[in-house]
Amino acid sequence: MTDSTVTYCYAHPTRETSLRCKRCERPMCASCAVRTPTGYLCKECVRAQQKTFDTAEWYDYLTGTGVTIVLSLITSILVAFIGSFIGFFMFFLAAGIGSGAGTLIANLTLRVLNKRRSRALFVACAAGVVLGALPAAILLLLTGNIYGVIGVVIYLVIATPTVYSRISGIQLTR
Ligand SMILES: [Zn+2]
Ligand SMILES: [Zn+2]
Repeated sequence: MTDSTVTYCYAHPTRETSLRCKRCERPMCASCAVRTPTGYLCKECVRAQQKTFDTAEWYDYLTGTGVTIVLSLITSILVAFIGSFIGFFMFFLAAGIGSGAGTLIANLTLRVLNKRRSRALFVACAAGVVLGALPAAILLLLTGNIYGVIGVVIYLVIATPTVYSRISGIQLTR
């Protein structure tokens, strides 16, 4: 009795398998299959799929990070400035500034990036938010302005994930 439906992995001709790539329909073994949200794919198809999601150019890393650093620098100075006046009330205000500024920074960054995207780029832009706030945070620490420091930290805790989720297209459920 021979089974005509027996197929072998495209990469490992000795391995019998019933698994097929959902995109190109090639038979593949379990070690060649990559699990994705839409089903099992072969490694080539996963790579091809990632390419369409990864459209960032080298200069996007400079402009994207540059924009977030500059905007975060301005925002953190603002937070520090306000914080030195209103002290304790800064805690409430910083969260609002964080989410407002995070949205604004993300929108401007998206415009600069012109819809080009990659995971590394999102991380670089989020890192830019943190880097931009460092000068103000260090200055506030050195001058002993604790309310200012906490204000900047609250701003960062809110703004950084806001920027990351907005530019990467992840919808935060609130
Ligand atoms: Zn495939
Ligand atoms: Zn294989």
